[in-house]
Amino acid sequence: MRVFTCERCGHTVGFDTQRCTACGAELGYEASSRNLRELLPTAVPAAFTLHDSGRMHWRCLNAAWGCNGILFAHTAAIWCRACALTRGRPDDERVDATGAWASAEAAKRRVIHQLDELGLPITPRSARSPHGLAFDFVALPGVGGITGVRDGVVTIDLAEVDDLYRDAERRRFGERFRSVLGHLRHELGHVEWGDLVRDAESMALFRSTFGDEREPYDAALERHYRAPVGDWDTERFVSAYASSHPAEDWAETFATYLQLLDLVETAVAHGLGVAARVGGRADGIDLDEVRRVWRDLSPALADLGAALGGHSGFPHDPSEGVMAKLSIVHRLVSRRVREAAADGPVGPVEGGANSSTMMVQT
Ligand SMILES: [Zn+2]
Ligand SMILES: [Zn+2]
Ligand SMILES: [Zn+2]
Repeated sequence: MRVFTCERCGHTVGFDTQRCTACGAELGYEASSRNLRELLPTAVPAAFTLHDSGRMHWRCLNAAWGCNGILFAHTAAIWCRACALTRGRPDDERVDATGAWASAEAAKRRVIHQLDELGLPITPRSARSPHGLAFDFVALPGVGGITGVRDGVVTIDLAEVDDLYRDAERRRFGERFRSVLGHLRHELGHVEWGDLVRDAESMALFRSTFGDEREPYDAALERHYRAPVGDWDTERFVSAYASSHPAEDWAETFATYLQLLDLVETAVAHGLGVAARVGGRADGIDLDEVRRVWRDLSPALADLGAALGGHSGFPHDPSEGVMAKLSIVHRLVSRRVREAAADGPVGPVEGGANSSTMMVQT
């Protein structure tokens, strides 16, 4: 992610900032520019204008829960672009669950910002796009196996926001790291698959690299969970879960792709690495350069993590096998981004062009 600054005073501020800590300016995230803007007060309570636009804006209805998104006041919309993608969330009376949901929404805003920066089109679920993207954030204490995706709807188990629960799950499954942001990136990988692997050429490329996604899914996962934890091919797969099924290999690789790009862009934006171009639209990013920066950075990040009393779980250098898969993801993403830029947004393939958009994947 790039570094954001206050539009009034130039102070460095976080992506989620609602008010500059240095000068007190009201700040809001504008989805169209993917930037933080100063919100200028008007005679209308709670309405703002921007420096280059006299049009009225509101803050997103989720501002009280930490969202800094803004939207045009003249529309019927009440949520910002990212929050409007949420279909289900806990009731306000459930205070703990609402806090967990707000935290998960912050992670979602980050990943939606990244997809927008890369130029990957998103089709929100609507009457016109019944298979479009939506999110359900679910708090059902004691019920497992909630996180997954079905037909464009990403479901996130809010128990995963709890550090103790999440780390216990991480150890149970032998994972290097586990986060709500990671779950979102993974499930969006399944969603994007239907949009990126949509013709004979991309399907052939996918199957020759990741395997045949028509391999029985439930049996593959059952086999995976019966196998000893930690017993997987690190040369070919980015994680143990990736080795369970070609669809999960894709989703894990896609999640790693987003993580790697975000990490390296953030580091370079803060001056921790030097690169010509590691952010912006996907088709302008040189993945080899991203990898080079990552190789230079990873020992420093590991040491910084150790100094903070934690550890860096990210692999210091993706294996050649994993790099080959990341390159395929990058190629398919770049192709889609070029198409979208040339033609305008196109919705995901509808009507079962691939069968897995209708099945439940976790
Ligand atoms: Zn400021
Ligand atoms: Zn919002
Ligand atoms: Zn999955």
